[in-house]
Amino acid sequence: MAAEVLAQGGARVTVYDAMPSAGRKFLMAGRGGLNLTHSEPLPQFMARYREAAPKLQAAVEAFPPDALRAWSETLGETTFVGSSGRVFPKAFKASPLLRAWLRRLDAGGVRFAFRHRWTGWDGEGRLAFQTPEGAHAIGASATVLALGGASWPRLGSDGGWVELLAAKGVAVSKLRPANSGFTVAWSDVFRDRFEGQPLKGVALTIGAHTVRGEAMITRSGIEGGAIYALSAELREAVLGLGQATLMIALRPDLDVAALTTRLSGTRGKQSLANFLRKAAQLSPVGIGLMQEAAIASGRPLAAFSAAELAHLVNAVPVQLTGVAPIDRAISTAGGITFDELDEHFMLRKLPGVFAAGEMLDWEAPTGGYLLQASFATGAAAGRGVLGWLDQSQKS
Ligand SMILES: Cc1cc2nc3c(=O)[nH]c(=O)nc-3n(C[C@H](O)[C@H](O)[C@H](O)COP(=O)(O)OP(=O)(O)OC[C@H]3O[C@@H](n4cnc5c(N)ncnc54)[C@H](O)[C@@H]3O)c2cc1C
Repeated sequence: MAAEVLAQGGARVTVYDAMPSAGRKFLMAGRGGLNLTHSEPLPQFMARYREAAPKLQAAVEAFPPDALRAWSETLGETTFVGSSGRVFPKAFKASPLLRAWLRRLDAGGVRFAFRHRWTGWDGEGRLAFQTPEGAHAIGASATVLALGGASWPRLGSDGGWVELLAAKGVAVSKLRPANSGFTVAWSDVFRDRFEGQPLKGVALTIGAHTVRGEAMITRSGIEGGAIYALSAELREAVLGLGQATLMIALRPDLDVAALTTRLSGTRGKQSLANFLRKAAQLSPVGIGLMQEAAIASGRPLAAFSAAELAHLVNAVPVQLTGVAPIDRAISTAGGITFDELDEHFMLRKLPGVFAAGEMLDWEAPTGGYLLQASFATGAAAGRGVLGWLDQSQKS
């Protein structure tokens, strides 16, 4: 995005990427339909960036969700608003958009140099690259770093830049998994039976935060949309205390009284699982979670009274024992701290070097907020470089 703004502003631009082709993580994001942005009003939209919102406000206001949708349209990809307010291209994937974009950048004079891994600066302040042909040094009037976070490193962004910037005295807050799963010590029986099964229409709570949505049981724990939406709170609790209790409400629209009435009927010859499934419309995986909680409490579920079962249905405790590794996370928290940047996204300690995208210290839930902030800060850094080049020429 910075390259596009720069080329439109008349600059000669080369994009260097360590990978053999462009936009690999963008293409991966397209596998889920490419949730480009979100349609909610801007004040709510900005609140998703939490404490970083004031730092991103000007960039997002200058390139807001509507501008991103219009941009996509100029590339032949009209967008639509899904039922949850999320915005997707009609093609519901990234490849046609990326192809059209690369064609337009090429026509606009942007050059691409792949298999160029940036490794810092040489003794003369030139950008140093490792390439299959050996080391290269390239002089540039200005540089935009847009090296991403550290999730899914096989797609290119591996966080290798952290040490390079730290060596220059740039403060980087530790890269941590965001929109990530968590580990749970499931019993072997539960893991084998329910791995890959979704929990639908549940409400998840940690402390004062509750989110409704879906979660997915994995071999080593739990992941999915509702987990990602709570991942910042869950991560801080797990990292701070070593573990955290996630409360799952399996039937959040039924209160304890209604559930108690349903569960007070006679079971007859039905198994407990069948009874729970029919009386409270619980899924097998939901009942499995209740069994896990009962085992952990040291009492079999069969010994629970109707009132106790009713209470458990909407407060199943799940002990999270750790955060899933960053290479499986959707995005990255942490990054270059905003104090290191001026209002044009230039690094104060490295004049002429700008930074944008997920390598900055912000995080947001899934919903299009990640790409929107990456696009908006890329555009802002591009404008910043144009201003910087203009000023440098005058002085
Ligand atoms: C599975 C998955 C699904 C996602 N779905 C969505 C979604 O639907 N909506 C959404 O908003 N977000 C989504 N995201 C997140 C989104 O893709 C990222 O937030 C976004 O791509 C970040 O853009 P970026 O340009 O900052 O970094 P990246 O897209 O990570 O790009 C960084 C680039 O820098 C290159 N690079 C890194 N280090 C070097 C180096 N030393 N030298 C040279 N090149 C280097 C990399 O090769 C890469 O091309 C998803 C992410 C994943 C993993």
